[in-house]
Order: sequence, then C-alpha cells, then structure tokens
Amino acid sequence: MGARLTSRRVFVRDLGLGVVALTVGGTLWAACGGDEASPSGSASVPGATPPPGSDVSPPAAPVRAEPTVRQVLLDFVSAYVVVRGTEAVVVDTGVGGSAPAIERGLAEVGVGWSDVGHVLLTHRHPDHVGSLGDVAARASDAVLYAGAADVEAIDTPRPLEPVGDGDTVLGMKVVDTPGHTPGHVSVFDPEGAVLIAGDSLNGEGSGVETIVDGVGGPNPRFTADMATAIASVRKLAALAPDTIYFGHGEPKLAGAAVALEALAARL
Ligand SMILES: [Zn+2]
Repeated sequence: MGARLTSRRVFVRDLGLGVVALTVGGTLWAACGGDEASPSGSASVPGATPPPGSDVSPPAAPVRAEPTVRQVLLDFVSAYVVVRGTEAVVVDTGVGGSAPAIERGLAEVGVGWSDVGHVLLTHRHPDHVGSLGDVAARASDAVLYAGAADVEAIDTPRPLEPVGDGDTVLGMKVVDTPGHTPGHVSVFDPEGAVLIAGDSLNGEGSGVETIVDGVGGPNPRFTADMATAIASVRKLAALAPDTIYFGHGEPKLAGAAVALEALAARL
C-alpha cells in the first residue's frame, strides 16, 4: 500500500510500527513497511537511499504517520472517522439514520465506504450502535469489532470480533475501559497521543458535573458501575493523551493529559 497524504509534515521517528512516511519534493508519502514497492520515483522505503535533495535520512526502523481523525457530530453524540494512509476506521455509528452523515465525514477526509476496513464500537448503547446495520451494509468489506463483554448485547448484521487490551485496529491500541458498560473499549493512537474515549469520559457540553478543563468523567446517569468506570479513567490518564475525542461533548484538542490527570485525582 502506498498512500499520498495531504499533509507535508515529515514523520521519521523510530516507533517500530510498520509504516514509513517521508517528504520528498514536498509530497508526503506513507507506505506500509515490508514488502511494498515505493510509489515510483517519489518516495523511499526503509533501507533505501533517499533521492538527491531529500530532506530526510532513512529511519532505522519503519514508523507510522499519525492518523487523521474526523468528528461526525450527530446531534448529541459523535461518531468518528479515522484515516491512516488510504484505509479508514469508523468508530461508533451514532443513532439510527446516521449513515449519511458518516458518509459525509468519510468524504471530507478523502475516503469512501470501500476504504473502511474496520468498524469499531466503543460500547453497546443505542446511540453508539444505532446505525451499525446501515454502516456495515455500506462498508461491506469492514471487520466489525466491540469489547468482548458487550458483543452479545449488540444487534449486528454480521459477527462482531471481540477486542480488548492487546489488540490493535489500524495501528491504534484498543484499551479495555469497563464501567460505563461491562465491555466498553477506547482506542488510543500512540503516534499522535490521540484517544477516542467513547463514553468512558465526557467533553464540555455533555452535561456531566465533574469536568476539569474540558475533560469530564463518566456520566453517573448512564454508567453501569461507577467504581469500575473511575478505575478506567485512571487507566486512561496513564496513557497521557494529548487529544481526546468523546462520545458526548466537545473534543479536547490539546493539553488533555494534564486535565485528565487532574480529573482522575478528583474522582
Ligand atoms: Zn453510553
């Protein structure tokens, strides 16, 4: 897979994640490490000599460019489109009837349903899985995932892969964050320090009472087990995310780690 990205940012960091992105002649290319050929005449892969005029050196090990995250605001709940290279993940599907809005979100970041290889559900609640049938029908090649303890509770048109700690989806780590529901999961991208928290946390405007600088705790009204949910908040704080996207409320786009740490201390 070779993918031309719109950004000119150069990523040459040794994180061993299997993808290299190099800026050559002002164009950023990303290529999965290993067996792929370079886009002809335009980019280098690990071990290759950079073309004359290249402003980077070959990295010691392949790295992966941070993903593009697009919020799809669906009234009171958000779904997310995450794009890395030419492949996309849809995280949550909103309430019923949300597929057209998700389709617009995909188009806004330059991909379509056929690029969606993965649909990940953070948890079983209807405002997060309500359009799963429509999304799965359109993203007909996508693998569907949910936290193991929520799989049985979700009405799905094809099997849901149970996921949890230790799993990755398109380079993002799945993090078990039980409490809001037993099988709630979040996803964390270490490259960009980006967390998609589902309902394990809440943003500004979500209506939760305990909120620190735009990062709020689990909503007691809708959370099955608050003690477990608070333990999950501490687990997320240890990841030190810079950016957090929530199921409800405004994203926290920078400085999230400090706010989340303070929140965890207050809960
Ligand atoms: Zn929920």
